[in-house]
Amino acid sequence: MTEPERRSRLVVLAGPTAVGKGTVAAAVRESHPEVWISVSATTRKPRPGEINGVHYWFVSDEEFDRMIAEEDLLEWAVVHKAARYGTPRQPVDLALASGRPAMLEIDLQGARQVRETMPDALFVFLAPPSWEELVRRLVGRGTETEEERERRLETAREELAAEPEFDVTIVNHEVHAAAEQLVTLMTVGEERPPLAPDQF
Ligand code: 5GP
Repeated sequence: MTEPERRSRLVVLAGPTAVGKGTVAAAVRESHPEVWISVSATTRKPRPGEINGVHYWFVSDEEFDRMIAEEDLLEWAVVHKAARYGTPRQPVDLALASGRPAMLEIDLQGARQVRETMPDALFVFLAPPSWEELVRRLVGRGTETEEERERRLETAREELAAEPEFDVTIVNHEVHAAAEQLVTLMTVGEERPPLAPDQF
């Protein structure tokens, strides 16, 4: 890298299942094209409307094995005991080197791995307004079977307890407000004073 002083800081967005991480990331992508958002690889099947290379790289188990073996992934995890998800490493390095604000939207296990390898990243926890609201959002999405929903709720309980491990919490009352708070965090220069806690 020729200009290390322009390297940007990685933001890692995590939080419980169904809190709206994907929706907040989509809102950031829509309104802030200057922000680079990682496209994960996954072994799960695409849902209706999901596009390969946009929402995820949908790969076979064999391809995912190859990515692990060749150390192509910055982190990876089995999520909801259902499928594997991972962050391709090289695009992250390129985005940071270019100085663009860069973000990962991943699960808690992945965030913990990135904490080990990139401790300078900013770890943001997206929290639901309440447990009841989280359950409502999970049921409302209607894309999972009853068994999957139960499994995801169990995971969500554990994930909520991890909030203190994060640098900042954003409460997802409303998707666009949460997205703006996230972008503010990403683009705030280190010379500026930190945002007051009540802004989150
Ligand atoms: P979904 O299948 O609903 O799109 O995503 C399921 C979960 O996988 C979400 O909690 C999402 O944050 C997580 N996830 C997506 N991409 C990655 C990734 O690259 N790594 C990890 N560890 N989790 C991911």
